[in-house]
Amino acid sequence: MAAPEPPRGARPWRGVIEEYRSWLPVDADTPVVSLGEGGTPLVRSAWLSELTRGEVHLKVEGDNPTGSFKDRGMTAAISVAVAEGAKAVVCASTGNTSASMTAYAARAGLTPIVLVPHGRIAAGKMAQAVMHGAEVIQVRGGFDECLQISRGLADSYPVALVNSVNPVRLQGQKTAAFEIVDVLGAAPDLHLLPVGNAGNISAYWIGFREYAEAGLAASTPRLWGFQAAGAAPIVRGEPVPDPDTVATAIRIGNPASWRLAEAARDESGGRIDAVTDEQILTAQRELGSRDGVFVEPASAAGVAGLVAAVQAGEVDPGLTITITVTGHGLKDTETALRGVDSIVDSVIDADVEAAAEVAGLA
Ligand SMILES: *Cc1c(COP(=O)(O)O)cnc(C)c1O
Repeated sequence: MAAPEPPRGARPWRGVIEEYRSWLPVDADTPVVSLGEGGTPLVRSAWLSELTRGEVHLKVEGDNPTGSFKDRGMTAAISVAVAEGAKAVVCASTGNTSASMTAYAARAGLTPIVLVPHGRIAAGKMAQAVMHGAEVIQVRGGFDECLQISRGLADSYPVALVNSVNPVRLQGQKTAAFEIVDVLGAAPDLHLLPVGNAGNISAYWIGFREYAEAGLAASTPRLWGFQAAGAAPIVRGEPVPDPDTVATAIRIGNPASWRLAEAARDESGGRIDAVTDEQILTAQRELGSRDGVFVEPASAAGVAGLVAAVQAGEVDPGLTITITVTGHGLKDTETALRGVDSIVDSVIDADVEAAAEVAGLA
């Protein structure tokens, strides 16, 4: 007889594939490429609980190995790519997808190829791709051309494509919903999150539904997704040709998982709405100063959406609410510090009394 599994607290977290193996498209032969992703904290937010007169918890996905939830999907996608004999992996991205892909590819010994559009490259997240040894190729063209070339490489060469069109990524990402139910002991009433390419909201719905179907949760939450007002194709019901928002991770005009996200919204009895950049940046600051959780702007969209819904009288008291904050604030310090005149508040001589005075202690 096999030895019984030790209780979860008695062993280290093993990454989402080993923790949720039977729920994922892997078999005994699949080589697991993992950085120990998942197992992220579910942190109670005192001010949001008070604001809603309910219980609000933040799923802090910036605590993943490369700083965003993308790692959950990437461990699955890269493991499957290795099993299928890929020699290289490619994605079109200047953001968290390339940061995550290049890390997992490096670990698997695959060549990471990152295609970036002409013009705008933000140094912050690309630093991760560079450190993971990526071949960064700039294309004289836009994001769509980059995606086309990625597809072309995947069709004709031993190269795996890991953009959001890869369905294995959603399978990995659904484990965040499992973790929430495992920790709360039940599904929340309401789950909120940002929406960009709309893969993550679709993945959460798969996860919550599968747990309910297996009898591991008595219910499924309503899903509330939030796009940025300048990049809100699902809210408007049509693609946005020139999406514009400070929240670069959700600056998407034509989401890859549009239909899946609408299904998640409708089947869960939820909604997809827009929040302004101002609401997003306010929520980002509140998360930092009240919860001690520093996120990048896109990651704050769910919190911004909750605050707006409470102000509109749309949130009943007494609910258990979870919100995914998707990525770490250190990825984009430039935006965080924009509008801050100076990091230094005051300058004093080396003197305790002077420090006490300016700090408001005296
Ligand atoms: C990718 C990403 C999103 C958007 O997720 P989708 O699955 O594209 O909807 C939001 N926030 C962060 C930090 C991301 O990296």
